[in-house]
Amino acid sequence: MAEGAAGPDLPVTPDLPVTPDLPVTHVLGRILDAIEPVEAVETLSLREACGRVLAADLVSPLDVPAWDNAAMDGYALRGADLDPVRYTELRVAGRALAGHPYAGPCPPGAAIRIMTGAAMPPGLDTVVPQESVETSGELVRIPPGQQAGQHRRRVGEDLAAGGLALPAGRRLAPADIGLAASLGVGSLVVRRRVRVAFFSTGDELQAIGRPLEMGRIYDSNRYTLGALLDRLGVEAIDLGVVGDRPDALETAMRDAAGRADAVISSGGVSVGEADHTRAVLARLGNVEFWNVAMRPGRPMAFGRIGATWYLGLPGNPVALMVGFIFFARPALLALGGAAPIPPVPVRARTLEPIRKRRGRTEYPRGFVAATADGTMSVALAGSQGSGVLSSMSRANCIVALPHDAGPVAAGDWVDCLPFEGLL
Ligand code: AMP
Ligand code: MG
Repeated sequence: MAEGAAGPDLPVTPDLPVTPDLPVTHVLGRILDAIEPVEAVETLSLREACGRVLAADLVSPLDVPAWDNAAMDGYALRGADLDPVRYTELRVAGRALAGHPYAGPCPPGAAIRIMTGAAMPPGLDTVVPQESVETSGELVRIPPGQQAGQHRRRVGEDLAAGGLALPAGRRLAPADIGLAASLGVGSLVVRRRVRVAFFSTGDELQAIGRPLEMGRIYDSNRYTLGALLDRLGVEAIDLGVVGDRPDALETAMRDAAGRADAVISSGGVSVGEADHTRAVLARLGNVEFWNVAMRPGRPMAFGRIGATWYLGLPGNPVALMVGFIFFARPALLALGGAAPIPPVPVRARTLEPIRKRRGRTEYPRGFVAATADGTMSVALAGSQGSGVLSSMSRANCIVALPHDAGPVAAGDWVDCLPFEGLL
């Protein structure tokens, strides 16, 4: 009998409905399209504002620098006084130091001794570095070849009064705090901190502090999540461990949603457990369960419980982290009003082949480092099992292998996302 031509007496397997896994970019897009940032704002002093999200554009009230000033230690003079072919000899009529400007107008044909950062005396437009000149008594001798206007920082060259100093949505970094201070701005209006309630689910989970009972595991996810949330700068509310009972889960979800802008739970979204969580959430809100075309971290749930966002991440400890990095983190940043901050990949050559299936994004963990020849290389950080935290702990990056890519050969270039700045 020809292949595929089943005889009438053979049973025919019915086609099962198959929902294709959703690409990572699609899932992130769905999440970010849905989320609206919290509206409330607060005013914080600069010392409190780093890591917070600026709520409105900061417009510069000043020119920075506020005056033309010297970019080098040397002599300030009029560029027009320089002889293009012979030495120029000028009398030194005074001194200008940082914070101590030269008081009077500079007499014609004279120069002013000047230090870096000192305001340029009125009418003088050029600084000749001290290394370039000869001095004798009150005179300074300047060789030909200096350019009129050189080594002068211009008023407003950093920022002009009325210009945009920092855009709304900026997650404030140390340079932004310094920039605000350079404008004389002592406080900033930021969005209020996002509140995130989180808990772990699973009958097998045991709180730390007692010897491990047979068949159980310590609840590590809640500690990982708490640490990730703290690093992100949100207000994290730890609601403990919830057993696999519908009534307990329902109580926990209600409680969490009542206290926070977002709820994150770990576990209970994988095949075999999802039905249980799904039934509870169907009563409480509007939550979708997805299979994401990624590894680790395939199952997840996203939606609302009343006005609160809900994100259900897988229970496997590394899947939880990867789900957090690629979905929860951008979602919480958006909820906090931050403009999207795409991770900055480092291109590195892989030292070993990496198995990769086309049609899903894979995120093995690795260790990226500079090699002797100055290029970057990456090695996988041991076992890639989605429950193996020790290799995640040893790793310093996630290798991002895109949806459509196939297997990677040793020596191929891959994108690495360093944990520094990501976690
Ligand atoms: P689940 O997503 O609930 O099916 O869990 C998947 C795997 O992750 C199981 O092996 C769980 O025991 C494990 N797991 C679930 N929650 C945690 C947790 N909070 N800490 C450590 N492992 C967990
Ligand atoms: Mg579970």
